[in-house]
Amino acid sequence: MLIRLWGVRGSIPTPSTTKLYRQKLSKVLRLASEKKFETDSDINEFIESLDPALNSVIGGNTPCVEVLAGDTRLVFDMGSGMRPLGNFLLDSKDPNTEMHVFISHTHWDHIQGWVFFKPGFIPSYKMNFYSPHGNFEQRLNAQQDFRFFPVPLNFMASHKEFHDFTPESSVVINGIKISNTELHHPGKSYGYRVEYGGKVFVYATDSEYNNFNTKRYERLVDFFKDADALIFDAQYSFDQEIQRIDWGHSSAFAGVDLAIQANVKELILFHHDPDNTDFQILSLYDLSIKYLADNYPQNNLTVTVAREGAEFNL
Ligand SMILES: [Zn+2]
Ligand SMILES: [Zn+2]
Repeated sequence: MLIRLWGVRGSIPTPSTTKLYRQKLSKVLRLASEKKFETDSDINEFIESLDPALNSVIGGNTPCVEVLAGDTRLVFDMGSGMRPLGNFLLDSKDPNTEMHVFISHTHWDHIQGWVFFKPGFIPSYKMNFYSPHGNFEQRLNAQQDFRFFPVPLNFMASHKEFHDFTPESSVVINGIKISNTELHHPGKSYGYRVEYGGKVFVYATDSEYNNFNTKRYERLVDFFKDADALIFDAQYSFDQEIQRIDWGHSSAFAGVDLAIQANVKELILFHHDPDNTDFQILSLYDLSIKYLADNYPQNNLTVTVAREGAEFNL
């Protein structure tokens, strides 16, 4: 399985700022002042050697994750990251024009990218939508009501099929098993577990793990069990998580606890808070690494910060 991250930010698209750009620039210039560059390749080598906080961005697009399993394309959520995914598909002239789109829930940050997804307007594209919420087509129509968006859903010329996906059930598409489970979030969110070729990928965003009884917690540990990669809602710091009970999000610490119990190999911190800068997100990551080392000294868990453009090969 190949996983590509097109949108990793939570709640609202978050463009970068001049302030953040200048903070990075001043740190890079300080480091560069100790170097001597003869050629462009010296410069490229220097850029590659920098801390990821300085040579890349976390990205401001809201959730959209692409999974290629064999020749089958799965897409999880249609946040604003779906726009660059569409551009990529058209630019690369990928002949595979069918995809299977799974929706966690229909809060704006998970569906807004659809109307800017250019393949959605092209008749040769075949879109299969799956949502355990049941009335997904109606919800998309509501988003495209003329008062809120100028183009209605039925004006988008791609071939669209809306599939029923019963809560807590599975489907098999071209040998790929995809299961869903309910997550704790206002209006319900759904997580997805993908099993293919002996590998397991779990996409579980917009979820809170407080106030759980043991049975509910165990159900989720079971859903995450032995995942090779787990995309996890780590929007908050631990302090914010305590202050924001019932807001429906979680922290990297909760992710570490769950990942350890479920024997996950790689935990991918996702749905970053729009008010956190790249530096703040990376310091939350540092805290999660410390939390992991302090609480689970014997462990093989890898923790990663989700960044736009990142790829994972399982
Ligand atoms: Zn969200
Ligand atoms: Zn939400």
